[in-house]
Amino acid sequence: MGTTRKHPAPGAETVREPARNVPVAGAYDVVVAGGGMAGVAAAVAAARNGASVCLLERMCALGGLATLGNVTVWLPICDGRGRQVIAGLPEELLKLSVADLPRDNPAADFRGVPACWLPGGDTDERLRTRYSASFNPASYLLSLERLVLDAGVRLLYDTRVCAVHTARNRITHLIIENKSGRTALASACVIDATGDADVCFLAGEETESLDTNVLCGWYYHFDGNNLHLHQLSNRYSPEAAKEDATGPFFRGDDAAHVTGHITATRDMIRAQLDELRRRLPERDIQPVMAPSIACFRMTRRLCGTFSLGARHAHEWFDDAIGLTGDWRQAGPVYAIPWRTIAAVKTRNLAAAGRCISDDTTAWDVMRAIPGCTVTGTAAGTAAALAARDARGDLASLRVADLQDALRAQGALISPGLVTPCQTPAGR
Ligand SMILES: Cc1cc2nc3c(=O)[nH]c(=O)nc-3n(C[C@H](O)[C@H](O)[C@H](O)COP(=O)(O)OP(=O)(O)OC[C@H]3O[C@@H](n4cnc5c(N)ncnc54)[C@H](O)[C@@H]3O)c2cc1C
Repeated sequence: MGTTRKHPAPGAETVREPARNVPVAGAYDVVVAGGGMAGVAAAVAAARNGASVCLLERMCALGGLATLGNVTVWLPICDGRGRQVIAGLPEELLKLSVADLPRDNPAADFRGVPACWLPGGDTDERLRTRYSASFNPASYLLSLERLVLDAGVRLLYDTRVCAVHTARNRITHLIIENKSGRTALASACVIDATGDADVCFLAGEETESLDTNVLCGWYYHFDGNNLHLHQLSNRYSPEAAKEDATGPFFRGDDAAHVTGHITATRDMIRAQLDELRRRLPERDIQPVMAPSIACFRMTRRLCGTFSLGARHAHEWFDDAIGLTGDWRQAGPVYAIPWRTIAAVKTRNLAAAGRCISDDTTAWDVMRAIPGCTVTGTAAGTAAALAARDARGDLASLRVADLQDALRAQGALISPGLVTPCQTPAGR
């Protein structure tokens, strides 16, 4: 199931590209690769901590799977037992997702923050209602872009990271391609928020790829009156086991698989629309916003010095950089160690989002938007501190300083919140 790939594959025919000088198009304290939820959190956190930041996104919108994949449920930032376990920038991002929503829209599954989680809300109700929201993806990509630009981040759309230049266990430059051609960006610190651990892989970090992705693609249809969300997906296994899921199966680090997944998913959408039109002939069923990004749950991840697993629920780690609950059940709380996001060999590289170092027993929790924004916030803050104090050397960062900085920004990092909750919050 999990494999580490090499490019080119052994025995493959190759051609040699001529060596060339690549112009350096900019220099930053922090470059964030990938503008999904993790990358947005990382870029904003780094900029708010005083760093000059460039955010690179190969698509033409921010939010990644959350917006372009219509994965519109901001899963809970509480533990399901009435305790909030995530705050600070991730909570701000949750609230932003529904800030333009005047009222709930059940058919489209647009749902604001539950009243009990607003200031002064009913704490008993928090035991029954989780702190989550469901957003309009088009609205969210507009507000994410404004948030990033207002934070002073330099944003480059339509820009893919395609190579790295390294020296003495550091990335000195990211090589990018966009309409201006192939250029290099110098950076003191780099954050890999590509979802696919592209930068980690290119930098020679050990990575693991999963080939257990199933067909899925969330989309809307409009029936003349209402917008309806369809959470279309084959059955997948939370433990990434093929025998518990419905094939065909795909890997995210293979060009043919990426296109194969997208086209087969669209066949599934077309078939469902045909079925709807057959059942509801009086309605004018029109698809709206088919996903425009490959909807892989898990592709490639960093193999860090520590991999978070389901067995680590309720375990405190002294290098915790944030917490997350479990969206699937009430109770479990995970402390997320710094070691899950720090690269092993590359001193100025951290991962954030769904490509951090967790094993198949925990990825179903860690890949969700709450965990992705927690690790993004931590990586961005760490990068800004390292750029300011240690010329980008994350490996020499004191995790206690990072924890202090994160707590000062509202992050919840405390052993008391990780212990199993016996009594409701506030009692
Ligand atoms: C079908 C499905 C349903 C889901 N349901 C939910 C749900 O209900 N709630 C929830 O919280 N989570 C859900 N998830 C998971 C969650 O949405 C994602 O895992 C999370 O949003 C990932 O965020 P990310 O920023 O780590 O990665 P991504 O969203 O994948 O963002 C990575 C970004 O990097 C960009 N990128 C990639 N490579 C490069 C490169 N080389 N150069 C430049 N840019 C690059 C991509 O274009 C993308 O914008 C679901 C996922 C799927 C697939």
